[in-house]
Amino acid sequence: MIDLINTLQDGIAQLQTWLYVDVAQPLLFALGLMGYDEETYDALYWVIIGMLQIVVMYAVLRPLEALRPIEPWQDRKATRVDILYTWIAKLGVYNMLFFMLLQPWFDRLQSLMAIHGIPNIQLDGFWPGLSDHPLVSFLIYLVVLDVAGYWYHRWQHRFGVWWELHAVHHSQRQMSLWTDDRNHVLDTVIEAGFFAALSLFIGVEPGQYVVLVAVSNVLQSVQHVNARLPFGPVLERLLVSPSFHRRHHAIGYGHEGTRYGCNFGVLLPWWDMLFRTASWDTTPEPTGIRDQLPAPEGHLRDYGRGWWAQQFRAIPRIAMRMRTTLGGAR
Ligand SMILES: [Zn+2]
Ligand SMILES: [Zn+2]
Repeated sequence: MIDLINTLQDGIAQLQTWLYVDVAQPLLFALGLMGYDEETYDALYWVIIGMLQIVVMYAVLRPLEALRPIEPWQDRKATRVDILYTWIAKLGVYNMLFFMLLQPWFDRLQSLMAIHGIPNIQLDGFWPGLSDHPLVSFLIYLVVLDVAGYWYHRWQHRFGVWWELHAVHHSQRQMSLWTDDRNHVLDTVIEAGFFAALSLFIGVEPGQYVVLVAVSNVLQSVQHVNARLPFGPVLERLLVSPSFHRRHHAIGYGHEGTRYGCNFGVLLPWWDMLFRTASWDTTPEPTGIRDQLPAPEGHLRDYGRGWWAQQFRAIPRIAMRMRTTLGGAR
């Protein structure tokens, strides 16, 4: 397993060098942007990992959707915008944006923490020599980041302003393998910043972080697939399955009820079981947000069809939420 990962990493590193020397460097030179050469080299790593994910999605998940769909559709027009989201996310645009905008802040925060003697929580401190066992430390990091992911997601549903951003993800009524990346840009940047900061804080190595993000992304694409892929009663309790996450997107279940929804788990359903937010009902329900339905159930609310509309329409919704929150406080 470790050998396979090493071989894969060597291959990616070679591809990265080739892309950098033959494509990126001449381009940067021509544009007079050689000041960004280091960032570009790092960003290329994310681009290659993203491209590999897209290959897996087209080669494995897309044929499954064609062969064994859960929801049969007349056409796939509504999924097209999600493909655009996926390409933008997988080409590493957000990561590049994130690196340029937030990296200086992190550097400053890290040096401030060092000056004031605030220690990072490094797992090596609890278990000396842990970093010598990459697979064990990888699994521990995965569990720690996943429990944080559970609460992060639960709060996206709990707090109105945040929900209006997350609603972009839930407003897709034709949920497919591409839906995972359908998110508001602001939400994506906040999330990338939060998990990068947490990872730095607990001592995740940069090389491990890339693998953690890639594993998480692939599994989350699987969760959104519109294909019958039963995990069985045991695996379903170990790993979030497509039917478990589909329940989270179901109108009337995933976002409503006493706990503002169910099945918030990112990779592991354990936290939903522990904090009593799990629903194991696999009956296929229409997905989306109740507000999108016609009266009397909803208000036929339009969350936008295209990328720009979906991004901009979140702004007045947030403004409205803030007005009612502030109004309520007075
Ligand atoms: Zn959600
Ligand atoms: Zn989802």
